[in-house]
Parts: sequence; C-alpha cells; structure tokens
Amino acid sequence: MVEIIKKIKEMQKRAESFRRMGKRIGLVPTMGFLHEGHLSLIRNIRNDCDVLVVSIFVNPTQFGPGEDFKEYPRDFERDKKLINENGGDIIFAPDTEEIYGKNYLTFVKVRELSEIMCGRSRPTHFEGVTTIVAKLFNIVKPHIAIFGQKDAQQAVIIKKMVNDLNFDVEIKISPIVREKSGIAMSSRNTYLNNNEKEQALALYKSLLIAREEISKGERKSEGIKEKMKNCFEKYPDVKLEYIEIRDFDTLKDLNHLKGNVLIAVAAKIGCARLIDNIIVNV
Ligand code: AMP
Repeated sequence: MVEIIKKIKEMQKRAESFRRMGKRIGLVPTMGFLHEGHLSLIRNIRNDCDVLVVSIFVNPTQFGPGEDFKEYPRDFERDKKLINENGGDIIFAPDTEEIYGKNYLTFVKVRELSEIMCGRSRPTHFEGVTTIVAKLFNIVKPHIAIFGQKDAQQAVIIKKMVNDLNFDVEIKISPIVREKSGIAMSSRNTYLNNNEKEQALALYKSLLIAREEISKGERKSEGIKEKMKNCFEKYPDVKLEYIEIRDFDTLKDLNHLKGNVLIAVAAKIGCARLIDNIIVNV
C-alpha cells in the first residue's frame, strides 16, 4: 500500500535513508486530480527507480492573481487509489503552510525563458514552478524526475534550472497523453462543458495542420502559423493566445524549421486556459 508523507523533515529523512541503502529515488511532481497523463508519467519512470515518490501539491505561487488556485480540482482519495494501482511507493502531500510557512522570501527564476510564450500572460507562473520544483528536489532528493511534454516550456525551463544550478537530478520528458478526441488530457478539462470540449479540439487540429504542412515540405514558420490561424477561425468560442514555433532545446524563435522543433499553442475557452504542442524533428 502506498505510504503518505506530509512533513518535509520526515520526507527528507526517508530520502536520506533510501540513498544510504543505495536505492534510486524517482519523483513525479503533480498538482493532483490525476488523469491518464499523470499516470503515464508514473508508469514511464517506474523502471528507472527503486523508490517512486509522487508529490501532490497545488502550488499557490504558480497561480497569478485572479487565476484558478481556489477552483483547481482536488480529490486526494481518488489520487491515492490511482497512485497505488499504478505502482507509486510514497505520496508526498504537504499543505501550503508546510511548504511556504510564514514570511517566505526565496524564489528561483530562470530569466528570459520564463518571460516568453505562456510567461507573457502569466508573468509570475514559471518562477512559482521553478521554486516549487527546486524545493521538491531538496525535500525528496530524487535521482530522476519526470515531467510531461504537455507543458513543454516548463520542461525546457526546468532542464535549464537543473543545468544552471547544478542539481544532481536526471530529467526525463514523457509524451503527451490525449483523449480519444485528440485533446490533450488536463486537470483543467473538467472546466469544459460538452460544447467547449468540441471547441477545444481547435488546438490539436491546428497542430495536425502544422504537421501536415511540414510533411508537404513547408519550412517557413510564417506559412505554417498562417494555416494554423485559419483553423482557429472555424472555432469562434476559442480565443487564441499564441502560436509559437521554437527550438525545443533553447526555446529560440525559429523563422525556418530546423532540428527539434516545438510548435505550441495556447487559447482560452470559457474560463479554461488550455495549451498543447507537438515536437517535430525536421
Ligand atoms: P500538473 O498536475 O498539471 O502540474 O501536471 C503534472 C505533470 O503531469 C507535469 O509534468 C505535466 O506536464 C504532466 N502532464 C499533464 N498533462 C499531461 C498529459 N496530457 N500527458 C502527459 N503528461 C501530462
């Protein structure tokens, strides 16, 4: 049965003792309300570690003012059952007070990469993410941690933080898990009604169009973005925030596609802000 740890000191003590026994610790950081996407991360890291820790923490510092921190869905009992069934050994589930206490002052920020793409509309989001991930690395002491390609910009930023701050942690990136319709699984999909779910297909459809254009030989970003934008015109309830074509390792803007190319979209539907992407090797 999966074990639950809520206190930092206890988690650190356990992590230290696993390390002394020569056991390899794997970490799957999540905000809970798990779906198949999260479970695929658990399954994809299981064979890379001896002890698998899944953290559940809805991290207030990565939500901006007016964002959905309060409404964010939570169901600990269901998460516990799913983690148990999928091979997790420990759930680290601290409360906000335990993580940030009173008068919390220290933040980790990856400059530049946190300011583009999603960072434009969510200016403090990524420093919230890098801060909590840095703290989790110090608490869980993992040898390896896994993140989803679904949040591609987040994955690049975390890799940069690990490199710049010399964290001794291997970072693994796991492919996007989609619903049958094609939309990327997300805890925030629960905000969508049936009509909005259909509209949400716009993101994935636009990415399929990009893939098709590339397979036909198109290499200019402008041409691909134009075709993708046209796709959104068929979905009037979708407010497109951005279409970006960037290098997946550096997030450098690309005019011409070359190498590992990230094609990413963000849009608002009703009260939900959704993101999706594909990575194409050109
Ligand atoms: P979250 O609970 O939304 O913070 O997500 C926790 C982890 O699950 C992150 O590394 C996400 O990128 C990953 N994730 C979320 N949705 C998906 C998905 N549809 N497919 C794969 N990974 C995902």
